Amino acid sequence: MQRTLSIIKPDAVRAGHLGEIIATFEKNLIRIVAMKMVHLSQREAEGFYAVHRQRPFFGELTAFMCEGPIVVMVLEGQEVIAKNRELMGATNPAQAAEGTLRKRFATSIQNNAVHGSDAPETAAFEIGYFFNALEIAG
Ligand code: GDP
Repeated sequence: MQRTLSIIKPDAVRAGHLGEIIATFEKNLIRIVAMKMVHLSQREAEGFYAVHRQRPFFGELTAFMCEGPIVVMVLEGQEVIAKNRELMGATNPAQAAEGTLRKRFATSIQNNAVHGSDAPETAAFEIGYFFNALEIAG
């Protein structure tokens, strides 16, 4: 059994896609074991995306993540990291496969609706960034 962190980003919350995104996880038999809505400060967004500090879009990306509330979730299931990445689709919605969350809801390479951890080590860091053990109903 694996866990991953999912984020519904400010663009998708603002556009009213929470329900459809959560329903997509449920329809695909992914268990949601923790969930909350938070509004990140600039510092908190920078801490979360610290691995991207050197990338040219770091400032824009972290500002975007603070634009409004986000919904963070811990997802659980077999191979859930890869399964969630598959449901999300490619980073750039122009390249995302038909039916994926980013094809359906992203509006640009940055405003791409959802985040999902990309490996077990990043999942552990990202889950710990938002949730303590008592907040995960595994
Ligand atoms: P992901 O794992 O598919 O989310 O993609 P990355 O780890 O490569 O990038 C992290 C996040 O940075 C993406 O989900 C986008 O929100 C944003 N991002 C990626 N590439 C670009 C870019 O070229 N420009 C901008 N402004 N944001 C980007």
